[in-house]
Amino acid sequence: MKKEESYICPVCNVEWDSLSEAIKCRNSHPIFKRTWCRCEFCGQAWRENAFGIGEAERLARKCEQEHIDKNEVEEVRERKRRLEIRLKQMGRQTRR
Ligand SMILES: [Zn+2]
Ligand SMILES: [Zn+2]
Repeated sequence: MKKEESYICPVCNVEWDSLSEAIKCRNSHPIFKRTWCRCEFCGQAWRENAFGIGEAERLARKCEQEHIDKNEVEEVRERKRRLEIRLKQMGRQTRR
């Protein structure tokens, strides 16, 4: 019997005969960019490709406007700040 090795691209799982082909495959995959529309007060975010560009913006702006209307901007900011500190203490990363 004969042993053969193959190399698997970690991105798409396609199997290649040589390491260099597998590396080439891995490097050929594009990096996706995501754009988030984030409410500057509470930190809630909407993804543009999930909601559509105009819609994600509208939702984030609406969220901001609601805090202003409810007169809770400082309160919401403070709550977010405290939450971030707590998450940091737990050793977790918050997405930026
Ligand atoms: Zn691949
Ligand atoms: Zn908000």
